[in-house]
Amino acid sequence: MQIPKVEQIMLKDVLKADKNATLLTICELMDKHRLGGVVIVDKNDCPIGIVTERDIIKAIIAYKEKTHLMTAGDIMSAPLVTVSPDDDIEYAFIQLSLNRIRRIPVIKDNKLVGIVSYRDISNALRKDLYKLQEKTESLEIKAITDPLTGLYNKTYINEQLKSFFSLSKRTNQPMAIIMIDIDHFKNVNDTYGHLCGDEVLKKISTILKEKTREINVIGRYGGEEFIILGPISDHKSTYYVAERIRNIIENTVFYCEEKNANFRITISAGIAVWNNKIKNYKELLKLADDALYLAKRSGRNQVRMADEL
Ligand code: GH3
Ligand code: MG
Ligand code: MG
Repeated sequence: MQIPKVEQIMLKDVLKADKNATLLTICELMDKHRLGGVVIVDKNDCPIGIVTERDIIKAIIAYKEKTHLMTAGDIMSAPLVTVSPDDDIEYAFIQLSLNRIRRIPVIKDNKLVGIVSYRDISNALRKDLYKLQEKTESLEIKAITDPLTGLYNKTYINEQLKSFFSLSKRTNQPMAIIMIDIDHFKNVNDTYGHLCGDEVLKKISTILKEKTREINVIGRYGGEEFIILGPISDHKSTYYVAERIRNIIENTVFYCEEKNANFRITISAGIAVWNNKIKNYKELLKLADDALYLAKRSGRNQVRMADEL
């Protein structure tokens, strides 16, 4: 990400005064414009110093009742630190910190063109940090999302599966997996084309999202294979969810725009529920896969449980 330049954040209406200006004039200027610093320039508009509130306080302490006789030239801070409009704000920030000052005049071709303050720079840097955070977050989301369906991808599902599995082990609360595979999906591609096949995958993903609860984690586990993880689920409720989804899909009419044709599809599903004899998450996954295979072998369009194996 590009770091902003000084020019993008500098204040262009700089308060400036001649070195012969009296302290009273300087104070009036600051008060009128509600700014804490005045840049002192020579006849060519080239900055030669800066008078800040801090300089005025120091002058009052040092010169007491003679303060009104002092001019900007007597009390201005020097040497003057400046930056150019093309410097990036990080450089300006470093200059501010190194010199323990709160404002820096911006000069171009020896002329005063603006001023940047500590507050402006830190606000801009903070905004930049937010942008960076947003970008990192969106990259993180991309890394765990299947681009076609917007469901979680296999990598993320495996991570979740591992953590749900260890939660079950610790708490003895069962978790469940529903493994879903579209029946004869190759036929859809062959008959209606790959693009239409993609639309089917998207529509099924929407159904899965809509018909499950917030706590379920849904992923695309393979080409036309989906998975639903239930962190706290028993046989009965998991079967109910899977059967409801199977039923909804069986009764959904899909439409192929290119062929202007309606068609239907079915899914098969396999369920595995955690118990303390299952050693690890891979074993649980294998049980769900075996149950899915049983559903396929038994004629498809059905939900089967690992316990039946
Ligand atoms: P079964 O009932 O045994 O599961 O039959 P099937 O045809 O669904 O299974 P098979 O494994 O033979 O074919 C899967 C098909 O899924 C083949 C492949 O082209 C298709 N497929 C996989 N990923 C995608 C995808 O991202 N988009 C589309 N359109 N098709 C896909
Ligand atoms: Mg498959
Ligand atoms: Mg299939």
